[in-house]
Amino acid sequence: MLVLGIETSCDETAAAIVKDGREVLSNIVYSQVEIHNQFGGVVPEIASRKHVEKISYVADMALKEANIEIDKIDAIAATYGPGLVGSLLVGLSFAKALSYAKKIPFVAINHIEGHIYANFITYPDLKPPLIVLVVSGGHTNLIILEDFDRYEVVGKTRDDAAGEAFDKVARYLGLGYPGGPAIDKAAKRGDEQKYKYPSADVDEYNFSFSGLKSAVINHVHVLQQRGEEFRIEDIAASFQKAVVDTLVEKTVKLSLETNIKKIAIAGGVAANSKLREELSKKCMQHHIQLYVPDFKYCTDNAAMIASAGYFKLIKGHTSSYNTNAVPYISLVSKKE
Ligand code: ATP
Ligand code: MG
Ligand code: FE
Repeated sequence: MLVLGIETSCDETAAAIVKDGREVLSNIVYSQVEIHNQFGGVVPEIASRKHVEKISYVADMALKEANIEIDKIDAIAATYGPGLVGSLLVGLSFAKALSYAKKIPFVAINHIEGHIYANFITYPDLKPPLIVLVVSGGHTNLIILEDFDRYEVVGKTRDDAAGEAFDKVARYLGLGYPGGPAIDKAAKRGDEQKYKYPSADVDEYNFSFSGLKSAVINHVHVLQQRGEEFRIEDIAASFQKAVVDTLVEKTVKLSLETNIKKIAIAGGVAANSKLREELSKKCMQHHIQLYVPDFKYCTDNAAMIASAGYFKLIKGHTSSYNTNAVPYISLVSKKE
């Protein structure tokens, strides 16, 4: 089954063709990051206008690169939320219009669920049950994926998402946008033991990154006011350690408690080298199998959306043309 995926939830205009949910025939991502970089974050109005300009071209490129005619496509999957409403509407309307004109089934995808499917692309034989740590720009969730399209949400952040904390700290340190990759890079040259920041741990399997973020920002502020010398690299490394320690500890704990010895990570922060390294160490110690998606499928892309679409379609799900864009959706447990 060939699925055309469309993703425009934030500042990437993306289209991809995926065969049987696992095999990527094309994956086109037009990133607007250079445009938004000068503003220090995504400007919603500019993002949606850019999507309008690029979406047809990007979808065309996806078909051309896969060498597939639109009439050979079995279904179109598009993100309906969460994300910026103006951005979501562009991809969603494009997908619905194309579906209607070409009489191809349409399926609407939750972007956060989409991030999880990056793992099924990278590992063609991977199957649930699986523990998944979703760490993206706007979301942090610890879930038990019981089956495709069926999961229990066990933990979440009480405030900021992990990626958001990376972005905000980076912005304060003058490292630019997006902040995650910049902190990751700076931290490699820093001493992570230099400063001890508060943990992101709250009760049970939940997280809190807001206090940690504020502590780092206040600390830098105090250092600056006192005129004390400090290295941004040490701040970045110490902050990153605090984030990663809690993410790793809770994820491994859930795996051991449920005896599901398979962990996957998803979302943009899954690209973080320290998270990959520490999780990999802990998983080895405890004989847990770790799955880490390819970098290009961690951040926003349409291949993951097409893959999520496939696994819905084979269960008989399609979506109505009434489907609207939904800017805020938190991940809640999903039973069939
Ligand atoms: P959401 O998926 O929650 O709607 P989003 O789509 O903006 O949000 P993603 O595309 O999943 O988020 O990921 C972007 C986030 O990942 C940003 O916060 C970015 O800083 C972070 N990120 C990317 N690479 C890294 C890295 N190497 N280390 C840490 N964070 C990273
Ligand atoms: Mg982005
Ligand atoms: Fe995302």
